[in-house]
Amino acid sequence: MKTLLFDIEGTTTDINFVHKVLFPYSLERMEAFILRHPQHPALDLVRKTLLEEKNIDANLETCIEALIGWIRTDRKHGALKQIQGEIWQHGYAAGDFKGHLYPDVLPAWQRWLEAGFQIAIYSSGSVQAQKLIFGYSSEGDLTPIISHYFDTKVGGKREVESYLNIQKVIGPDVTFFSDISEELDAAKLAGFKTVQVFRDEVKPSAHQSIKSFSEFSA
Ligand SMILES: [Mg+2]
Repeated sequence: MKTLLFDIEGTTTDINFVHKVLFPYSLERMEAFILRHPQHPALDLVRKTLLEEKNIDANLETCIEALIGWIRTDRKHGALKQIQGEIWQHGYAAGDFKGHLYPDVLPAWQRWLEAGFQIAIYSSGSVQAQKLIFGYSSEGDLTPIISHYFDTKVGGKREVESYLNIQKVIGPDVTFFSDISEELDAAKLAGFKTVQVFRDEVKPSAHQSIKSFSEFSA
């Protein structure tokens, strides 16, 4: 089956949604969340990292400080992702925000689904966070039309190996859309077709470049 594989930040979704809505929301609520869940299993991972890196036997307060610091530095830590996902889940469910989607995304996806393509996602945000963005999106619940989700468990987004791992799941005929040329370079080496998405203005690129999905016919 032919697959269209999408990055999220800068491709389907405004980078500002992640940096100006999701990150601050988790930052503001981290302390209260941990105080409400002092036995949260992810805290064992936080303590393990603090022991390995700083040689400290962290109490709850130190764990909270570390998690807040990791949000500020955008550290990709499994425990942070797990806890942020749970904080965001509450935010989405409470209607505090909806997952941002550029207006051309859903019409293009509907067109491509009808043409027999499947839709898949590859983002450095956890699969859990990806499902929340599309499950509680500004266009409603899009999870029924997304066939596969991949995060950095398959590898980093600039590594060829990751795209080869994805290919093992979804097959060889894949077009990958991203705003970052290094990610597209790696995908291309794995044999993917590539399209660079520029949401502001189109800049010269070795990859096919578009400003909106309405410009692309799969
Ligand atoms: Mg991106």
